[in-house]
This record gives sequence, structure tokens and C-alpha cells, in this order.
Amino acid sequence: MAGVYVHLPFCPYLCPYCDFVKWPHRASAARGYLEALYAEIDGEQPAPADTIFLGGGTPNAYDRGQIVELLVRLRERFRGAGEITIEVNPELVREGDFEAYRNAGVTRLSIGVQSFVSSEIATLGRKHTVDQVATVVGAARDAQIESVSLDLIFAVPGQTASSWQRSLQAAISLGVDHCSAYGLTVEEKTPYAAWRAREPGAFFDDEREGELYAIAIEMLQRAGYQQYEISNFAQPGHRCAHNLNYWANGEYIGLGAGAASYRNGVRSVHTRSFEEYVASARAGQSIPSQSERLEGRRRAGEAVMLALRTAQGVGLSEFKERYGIDVLKDYASVVSRFASTGLLERVGDTVRLTRRGVFLANDVCGAFVTFE
Ligand code: SF4
Repeated sequence: MAGVYVHLPFCPYLCPYCDFVKWPHRASAARGYLEALYAEIDGEQPAPADTIFLGGGTPNAYDRGQIVELLVRLRERFRGAGEITIEVNPELVREGDFEAYRNAGVTRLSIGVQSFVSSEIATLGRKHTVDQVATVVGAARDAQIESVSLDLIFAVPGQTASSWQRSLQAAISLGVDHCSAYGLTVEEKTPYAAWRAREPGAFFDDEREGELYAIAIEMLQRAGYQQYEISNFAQPGHRCAHNLNYWANGEYIGLGAGAASYRNGVRSVHTRSFEEYVASARAGQSIPSQSERLEGRRRAGEAVMLALRTAQGVGLSEFKERYGIDVLKDYASVVSRFASTGLLERVGDTVRLTRRGVFLANDVCGAFVTFE
């Protein structure tokens, strides 16, 4: 198994823009969930893994002893992972956490910062301070965690070009190894969706959002970060192998409520219900899931869409060998439409998004998925 994802869904509070599977932290529910997770891990066939990723939710809502125990069990079942990531909320980091994580095999920290501007942090419903982030990055360095990544969000209501530059500059000045910069997505049925329905003018349109995205690309590249995927930037040697496997359409297993897997051509997603997940996992039953087999044109379209997200793009010979498709021929009309409008380009044995195409990636990628 190339990648193992583990979902830890408890958070100290719930952010109004978020539609992940998550619940407010309660110690007894969190313990019960962990027991269910152990049962699910025990039910898996032992297999080698390249990467393990503890995501959430807020994984460090669990105390470090619980995280270490979880990692011990995961590494017994899925041996050999060279990259182990944990997402952390900077408010919840306690002295000694990172040393314990590192000793348990963690190589990568992904710190949920979102913004370094207090008013934006408040708008996003988050509670950390800017000083806390600097302290946490320093603690990660002291603990000699190999790669430190920050998440930032742009197109936050109230954000300006200059406040966005301040956040980017703060991340760069901290010298983190990796930075993810995501445009805010307003998900249905979240408090943000209700806000936008009441006050649409508070939110960014595509053009203004594109301006902030351009600032991110420019500043991060100037600071030596390579944009290796639409939203991800890394110093040399610090790309996230776990996510690279997703974009390479590699196999992965997802453990926990709402977690997605892709195995043997079948994509499946576990139930988002706490009760259903915990009851079935603890009873040793298969977790209620939705699944679909990706075959033929559909599988190829998804693979093109994922590969186009990366700087490397679609390897033409590789796609022929792996999926039996000739991208230039089989998708000729899509390729020529976007090539003629300057959004796609052919470079050697690859097709990739142009600098302009990166800004319209969703349109270009979507066209490959829906192509009949
Ligand atoms: S954004 Fe992160 S911390 Fe906030 S509710 Fe969602 S999972 Fe929890």
C-alpha cells in the first residue's frame, strides 16, 4: 500500500467554513473512536507502506501518548513508511510533543495556520496567535522534525492584497520547508454558505481570488519554493510524498470515519457517521462505505485530471503504458481547445498546464473528467 491516511476527527472548536468530518472534542468519544480505529487497523492485512498521514479534524486534540500508541500500531501493520505526517493546530501543541512524535517516527508536520493576520484568524473562527505559530515552528526545529509545512488560506472575507502578502511573508520569514496555499471554498451547508447567501459581496469573485493566487505564486517562488502542485510549494527535498501519490493516481488506504481509499481500481469512502463507524469497526464488521469502480475512460480521465494538477503534468508514454491511452489522440479535441487558448502546453513527452492554465485548472481538469 503506497499511502495510509488516518482520520482523527476531533477539534477544539468547529470552524465555520469547514465541511470535513469532525466533531467537538470530548474525551470519552475521542477514546471510543481510537478504540474503533485500533480495531480497524487490526482487521487490515499487514502490508508495506511508503507514507502514513494523520489528518483531521485536529490530530493533536489527542494527547501525545495516544498519538504515539496509534503510530506504534500503524507501523506494526504498515511497515517501512519513510514519510509520516501529522497535522497540528498550533494552539494545542505542548512542550515535548514534537520530540515524542519524532521518536515515534514522524518526519513531517503540517501546521494549520491559515493566516498570520489577527482579524482574518478571527473571521476564520480560529483562535491561535501569531506568536504561537513562531513558537511551534521553533519547537519543530528543536525537535529536528525533517519537514515543516504551513497551510494558508486566501480569499478570506476582509482580506486584502497587502494582508495576504503579510501572511506569506511571515511564513517565508519563519523558514518553513513547505507551504500549502488554498483558495477559500465555500462549502454547502456550512455557516459560511449561509453568510454568503446573506452577503455575497463579502466574498471574492474569481478575478480577485486569482490576483491573490498570483501573489502567492510570485512571492513563494521568489523565496525559493517550487510550485509542484496547484496549491503546494516546497523547498527542494521537501515535497509531500503522501500527496504526490494521490496525484500519481497511486493506491492508498483510508482509516477512520469519512476516510477515502483507492485499492484495486475501486474508490471507496467510509461513512461519515460517528456511531456507524465506531459500532461497525468495534464489532469487526466492514465499515459502511460508498464505493465505485473506476474503469476505462473514467479511470483515465481521473488520472489525467490528477496529473495535470502537478508541475510535471501528464507523462504521455507513461499514460500509454499504464492506462493504454494516447492522451493527444484520445482527448484530441480537449487538448487542442486548451492548447489554442494558451492553457495547456506540450513539453517533450508531457502535456501540462501553462502559467495561465494554472489559474483555470479546475476548468481544464474538469474537461478531461467529463469528456465522453
Ligand atoms: S478547519 Fe480544521 S480545525 Fe477547523 S473544524 Fe475543520 S478540521 Fe477542525
